[in-house]
Amino acid sequence: MSLLIKNGLMIDPASGVSEPRDVLIEGAAIAGMGRGLKGDTTLDARGCVVCPGLVDIHVHFREPGFESKETIATGSRAAARGGFTSVVPMPNTKPPIDNAGMVEFVIRRARETACIKIWPSASATKERAGKEMTEMAELRDVGAVAVTDDGSDIASSWVTRRVLEYADMVGLTYLAHCEDASLMEGGVMNEGYISTKLGLPGLPKAMEEIRVERNIRLAALADAKIHIQHVSTAESVEIIRRAKARGLRVTCETAPHYWTLTDEAVAAFPTFREAERRSLDEWTLVHLVPR
Ligand SMILES: [Zn+2]
Repeated sequence: MSLLIKNGLMIDPASGVSEPRDVLIEGAAIAGMGRGLKGDTTLDARGCVVCPGLVDIHVHFREPGFESKETIATGSRAAARGGFTSVVPMPNTKPPIDNAGMVEFVIRRARETACIKIWPSASATKERAGKEMTEMAELRDVGAVAVTDDGSDIASSWVTRRVLEYADMVGLTYLAHCEDASLMEGGVMNEGYISTKLGLPGLPKAMEEIRVERNIRLAALADAKIHIQHVSTAESVEIIRRAKARGLRVTCETAPHYWTLTDEAVAAFPTFREAERRSLDEWTLVHLVPR
């Protein structure tokens, strides 16, 4: 039984192909690429990109604990719909994925319900509390590919150093959520002109940059590799660039909203007081205006 995917734009970075080509699949293997191929069934991919499966190393499937938001099943279906065939879910679930049993739970649920490959990450510290390291060798043995306290940064530099050393020693990558929580102060958006205008508490860029710098310096001290998560400022990129130029083992990621939007996108957003005033107006309309 063969399948011919026709009329798609093929993009394959490995072979340098970026042009319209048809793909013939026989069983689980690619049997041919080009034009004039014949298959038992045909799939019209006009207007679509045909490419190797995409990989997202930072997703949040909220199972266990927040299944109303997302499960491994629904998250994997959404990923597949967008072309992603491998993902790394973050461990900030409830309870967090901070021991071998929890990693095994994710792997079992993935086997039972996911339609793509799931590579679990595990917490770097127990309960994600930033105090005591998890059993990293055990986590790796049951299938974790990385450790992270994503959702928050480890406040203690001492603990971060040890996490980096142990993770690297057992062959796991430490994924760093770089954020100095003490600079947060109830902030809800980028600190600047728009946040001032809206009267909303802002989050200064330094909050991220301070910790990108610190975590990379600790990785250098520990002679460990480090991956910087969801980079959102130009200065963070500069810090990472300098570290790479020095030969440090640093990688990073960003997210679409960081390069497609600015805080201008929420400039028309009604702040709480504004929203409150509006709902009060509606209430007045309903309850006080005689019908
Ligand atoms: Zn994060």
